[in-house]
Amino acid sequence: MSDTLQSVSGGALADASNAAWTDRYTHAVMDTFGPPQRVLVRGEGAYVWDADGRRYLDLLAGIAVNALGHAHPTLTAAISAQLGTLCHVSNFFATPTQIGLAERLLHLAGAPEGSRVFFTNSGTEAVEAAFKMARRNRGEDGSRTRVLALEGGFHGRSMGALALTAKAAYREPFEPLPGGVEHVPFGDTAALEEAFSPAAVAERGGVAAFVLEPLQGEAGVRPLPPGYLAHARRLTADAGALLVLDEVQTGVGRTGSWFAFQQPEIGGGVLPDVVTVAKGLGGGFPVGATIAFGERAATLLGRGQHGTTFGGNPVAAAAGLATLGVIERDALLENVRHVGAVLSSEIEAAGNPLVAGVRGRGLLLAVQLTRPVAADVAAAALEAGFVVNAVAPDAIRLAPPLILTADQARDVARFFAAVTVPDTTVPAERES
Ligand SMILES: *Cc1c(COP(=O)(O)O)cnc(C)c1O
Repeated sequence: MSDTLQSVSGGALADASNAAWTDRYTHAVMDTFGPPQRVLVRGEGAYVWDADGRRYLDLLAGIAVNALGHAHPTLTAAISAQLGTLCHVSNFFATPTQIGLAERLLHLAGAPEGSRVFFTNSGTEAVEAAFKMARRNRGEDGSRTRVLALEGGFHGRSMGALALTAKAAYREPFEPLPGGVEHVPFGDTAALEEAFSPAAVAERGGVAAFVLEPLQGEAGVRPLPPGYLAHARRLTADAGALLVLDEVQTGVGRTGSWFAFQQPEIGGGVLPDVVTVAKGLGGGFPVGATIAFGERAATLLGRGQHGTTFGGNPVAAAAGLATLGVIERDALLENVRHVGAVLSSEIEAAGNPLVAGVRGRGLLLAVQLTRPVAADVAAAALEAGFVVNAVAPDAIRLAPPLILTADQARDVARFFAAVTVPDTTVPAERES
């Protein structure tokens, strides 16, 4: 650590071991996440190091955040330069980086004339802005009062985003949540039709918005059935409802295109009304955005109707611009498609009886296991020097940096070829 940092940290950041740090963590940090698996002190490229000096290949990237890996020189230089120039301004003012990032996002999203961006600091705030847009989309007679969201979806932990999130364990301790939200069964076209039907509208109100992920991340990297999104587009368009795609996890190149909806197999050529992004956008620096497509969506929130102190911060915007710039300069979308294909085909080809298959897109993948032993597999991976995530009891999520190389992907495949976990199946009781 530098002398300057040491002198202002009051000794709080003195070197310690994983075990010592973890003990301090449990006494100082609120226990919402459980104890940390390791305490990380450094990163470079696709690797991170823990406080004991052990190296790990990072296949989670801060949950789909560190798009350029760790300590990327271009990103670091862009952030440092902006920090040394102008670190923050109020929203009474604007900065070139903020304006530049808004224009860049609109361009990459293929957003039509009249589209606009609202900047946030996180994914959940990007979803909050979309939710507030939905509330403003009540229609002339105020009848569009329902917001639909998909079962299995994850949209964040603030109260509005939580209302859109279906998982009972996340929601119920915090009820009452903002009302008017209705969850529709995953991938069920008939159920979606019912939610928009004249009978449903007469009984429960019109639909203001339908919020969903184009590829569900937290649900275990679960793709929508083919054609579902196009169908949702038709129904929302006919009803004057907003089609809101939560691309907080899938955006910024993660699936091999700038946004997941841009892939014909996922989006079916639809153009949404709203897209939320965050995770990968700043390459690790907190920044999010709500992109409104077209004049109608872009003007739902008027002056004074929404705000944030830090959203659109110049350093965050510089991080976003640099991340997008490196993805483009280094052809990382191509890399995502290539390395993602290597990763999934080689893991499947390894033929471990524990592995049922690999699903997902680009570098957002889930390794489906044949038994509910994801926690054991994740622990074994960590011991072997790989950071992965047990996204479901029987599935491992891989969301590595977009800079992952094919050789590194083969290292991962070798781990999945060899991994074993203790057989925990209890032998059936014999008749005696
Ligand atoms: C992570 C995530 C969020 C929440 O983002 P935060 O930055 O954690 O608030 C919202 N939607 C999706 C799809 C996510 O994956």
